[in-house]
Amino acid sequence: MKLTEKIHLLRLDFQINMNPHKKIDRFVNCIIVFGNKITLIDTGTKGSFHNIFAYIREHGRDISDIETVILSHSHPDHIGSAAEIKNITGCQILAHENEKSWIENIEIQNSERPVPDFFKLVDKSVKIDAFLEHDQEIMADKNITMKVIHSPGHSKGSVNILFLEDRILFTADSIPVKNDIPNYDNFNDLLHSLNCIRASHDSRDHEILLTSWTPVITDPKEIERFLDEGECYLNALDETVKSIYVGKESEPFEFCKKAILKLGLPDFYVNPIVDRAFRAHKI
Ligand SMILES: [Zn+2]
Repeated sequence: MKLTEKIHLLRLDFQINMNPHKKIDRFVNCIIVFGNKITLIDTGTKGSFHNIFAYIREHGRDISDIETVILSHSHPDHIGSAAEIKNITGCQILAHENEKSWIENIEIQNSERPVPDFFKLVDKSVKIDAFLEHDQEIMADKNITMKVIHSPGHSKGSVNILFLEDRILFTADSIPVKNDIPNYDNFNDLLHSLNCIRASHDSRDHEILLTSWTPVITDPKEIERFLDEGECYLNALDETVKSIYVGKESEPFEFCKKAILKLGLPDFYVNPIVDRAFRAHKI
């Protein structure tokens, strides 16, 4: 869909087998900027490049126009097609330096953060050509300036992208969605990043909020509500985790299981990703 004449949003669907009995449908948004050259933000999972290329061709452009791919962070549903897109088009890959090891070596990422079905979501590492810096401004086209905002917490090198002229903020996975799978590296950083997004909203730097996995939000009150909900959810998680994660576990995931039960979240949330996030609270 078109956000503006040149800035488009493409929804990419995928599935994850959370366990042998539970398959879930997910989607991830990717942004395509049709300038003189094409810029992509995020690439979906393995094989999503077919949909991205089809969309570009449907809009009368050639995939050889793809010059730059910005990766908001290293997780598989954002980098899954980056290697193919780079190999086919010769584009440059940009990401924050803190994501380097997990983007350039997916085996390391899988060993440190074992997402269910990891290698079905991403099967190739990709080299970063240049690192994104906080406050860096990148011109995607005349009058399309993308400002990089380092937004750690979900992962240590997560970035948000603010389209300055069009006042669109893309926050990728930086804002937790109420009752969604708890998924972060550092709880305090995540809360701080959420407050930075709120400050950006309060000062009207953006009027359209775009995340990786929600519909586009354009109503200022709705943006506020979404931020409030994310913060409330984080506080509820923090309170519960701190009341449960004490001492040594007598069996793996014992605390995670108790916390999920107390929070009233689905059973399949008891997994290494959530356990890792819960351990990211200052207990
Ligand atoms: Zn993520």
